[in-house]
Amino acid sequence: PPIVVRDFAILLGKKPFQLISELMEMGIFASMNQAIEEANAKQIAERHGFTLDIRHRGDDKPEPKKKAKAPREDDPALMEERPPVVCVLGHVDHGKTSLLDQIRNAHVVSGEAGGITQHVGAYQVERKGKKITFLDTPGHAAFSKIRERGANVTDIAILVVAADDGFMPQTDEALKFARNANVEIIVAINKMDAKGANIDRVKQQMQERDLMPEDWGGTTLCTPVSALEGTNINELLELVLLQAEVSELKANPKAVAEGVIVESQVEQGRGPTATVIVQKGTLKVGDALVCGPHYCKVRAMMDEHGKPVKSAPPSTPVRIMGWSGTPVSGAVCTVAKNEKAAKAEAEENAQALKARAAAKPAVTTGATDLDSLLAAIDDQSSKVLRVVIKGDVNGSVEALADCLRAIESEKVKLEIVETGVGVITKNDITLADSSEACVIGFNVKQENGVTALAKHHGVRIIQHNIIYELITSVEEAMSELLDPEY
Ligand code: GDP
Repeated sequence: PPIVVRDFAILLGKKPFQLISELMEMGIFASMNQAIEEANAKQIAERHGFTLDIRHRGDDKPEPKKKAKAPREDDPALMEERPPVVCVLGHVDHGKTSLLDQIRNAHVVSGEAGGITQHVGAYQVERKGKKITFLDTPGHAAFSKIRERGANVTDIAILVVAADDGFMPQTDEALKFARNANVEIIVAINKMDAKGANIDRVKQQMQERDLMPEDWGGTTLCTPVSALEGTNINELLELVLLQAEVSELKANPKAVAEGVIVESQVEQGRGPTATVIVQKGTLKVGDALVCGPHYCKVRAMMDEHGKPVKSAPPSTPVRIMGWSGTPVSGAVCTVAKNEKAAKAEAEENAQALKARAAAKPAVTTGATDLDSLLAAIDDQSSKVLRVVIKGDVNGSVEALADCLRAIESEKVKLEIVETGVGVITKNDITLADSSEACVIGFNVKQENGVTALAKHHGVRIIQHNIIYELITSVEEAMSELLDPEY
């Protein structure tokens, strides 16, 4: 079983953030809900005077011989090419929805007339005999909802930038998001038909953001398009295929099937249905699935046209009926041995979730109107420490943010204005100044002139290379916000 940080901390009698910081000291960046490796857990357990005793399910029964001989699922020899999974990001009104509609209507898998009418979270199109899977909810909110649960479904992000408007705040936010998620970025310079369209200016802005266009000698694929008139949509799809080829996207279609929920709903007369993108293995009708506290005997699967499909190889989106409940998007589902096993596993998961909820202090549950009103008043009177967090690597920033969120107290709340990787820049100071925040740096240096600028604006910088010292300083800063009598 996975050793999840939160649960492991409880076993050790520590607070999760204490464990997170201990892990960071070891160079391991894990957040609350992530699992850590057995060897690391063993090391930590021993340091605290425990011995790690992990029982794998079925330890008491000898493994069947056949299974022992089976090749590893991730053996490179078993890997096969799979279609890319693509999302569309960008600033509001830059044409994300129009682009997705244009792609959906003009390029549905051959032989399908009438396009796709129903929005089920994802669809597939075909270009030059190759498939591409699109997430059909544009914007990074949907994408981050999936990511929040730790799943990474997307391989490529199409960043839509309107040629008449250029990069805007949400474009930059989306760009940052895509980079954090480690997905490849292709830029679609949309509205090439519009009055005032300036493609070169967008390319210039790409260059400024370390997204040097390929035709300017860089490596970022980009093309002008018009989602309105349908211009260059084929070119864009070909760039996606090119990027997919470069990324060598592969999966083992014969592995035990596993997928991620992209959307779920309760449909009248159908009960709970969920759209799953298969990540490895091949999902088949008759399989039994477990997804957290829910399970499903797959009686039927449908594609985006509502047509039944019998099997779904990696990267294929399918809508599945027959769930015991509604799984949340971003959750991973796996195939179990049979329906009985799936049900048992789901029940086990439900118990674990219940136990976890019970262990948490009941603050948000069952709030009456009066309660929430009081809470709102309380909220206004409590102080807030706003922070801009900079760290040396992505993992450390996430882990640090998690740690800091964990130390917020009833009286002082912590609000993370921005997080980023790399040196503390003058921009960070300006941002902190305008949002009345302080800047927190873990294991990073400062750009020239940062100290002077911070002094000028009265922005506080808390900077350490040792995590617990950093956290202590932040705790101090939080307590300083309280009224003097405290
Ligand atoms: P979203 O908010 O990013 O999803 O943007 P929409 O797809 O809703 O488009 C916003 C507006 O821009 C709509 O009025 C579209 O008709 C228009 N639009 C989208 N693509 C193009 C294009 O290629 N050219 C022009 N001229 N207008 C476009």
